[in-house]
Amino acid sequence: MIWYDSPGKGGGYLVGLISAMPVEIQLLQEAMTSPVAQKIGMDIFISGKLYDQDAVLAVCGAGKVNAALCAWSMIQNYHPRWILNLGVAGAGDDTVDIGDLVVATDTVQHDMDTTGVGDPIGYVSKVGLVQFPCDPTLRDQLLSAARQVVGERVQVGTIATGDQFISDAAVKETIHSRFQSKAVEMEGAAVAHACYMGETPCGVLRAISDNANGDSPKDFPAFAADAARISQQVIEHLLTMQEATP
Ligand code: SAH
Repeated sequence: MIWYDSPGKGGGYLVGLISAMPVEIQLLQEAMTSPVAQKIGMDIFISGKLYDQDAVLAVCGAGKVNAALCAWSMIQNYHPRWILNLGVAGAGDDTVDIGDLVVATDTVQHDMDTTGVGDPIGYVSKVGLVQFPCDPTLRDQLLSAARQVVGERVQVGTIATGDQFISDAAVKETIHSRFQSKAVEMEGAAVAHACYMGETPCGVLRAISDNANGDSPKDFPAFAADAARISQQVIEHLLTMQEATP
């Protein structure tokens, strides 16, 4: 691995991949050829060829601020064609189970709450949005790649993001009643927020590691690695479907 210490490598036409935890992106990192690592602030970006595509990937750490900062830095320094946030998540409702996949149509910040001054729940000031959209073309490609890996065990819908590990069925139900969320996690809407501001198409793909209920404290550590493997297999299919970068 070659290391660059200073920023400024930006070249464009890269696929950007961001995960919160190493296990969620490790297989893709291992599959990358001619990797070059660059540390910018506390984020480490690794660029190289991934299934014939020019790609850059990073582990952002859990939570919205970590994710938004990493996505913003990736946009500014690498100018990726699109950014995909992948990883594991809690189920958003009872139709989704451990091992299923969820592809986001849009993402919301479920813990953004200025209802006290009359805004709708989830409303993000300045941007003026509750739902942060995902790119429809990328979403459709993700869906067909996901079907190749898990067949019908994939759903398309809203993914709800917040700075909270959800391990209480009542909290999950409240979030679902507000946003009709199919998955709950901690980074997707923050990546989508940064991408919206940086005019970069984005996608979010999550594999369910737990049911966001009282079983989650034991299910998450038990199933996270298996779920993470599924979402990385989808990315392999997705990138293989693209035209190769010359
Ligand atoms: N200290 C741990 C924190 C993990 S938090 C670490 O850094 O490894 C859980 C992670 O998995 C988050 O990145 C989140 O996006 C996802 N996740 C899985 N199940 C979740 C749930 N039930 N609620 C919220 N996030 C969940």
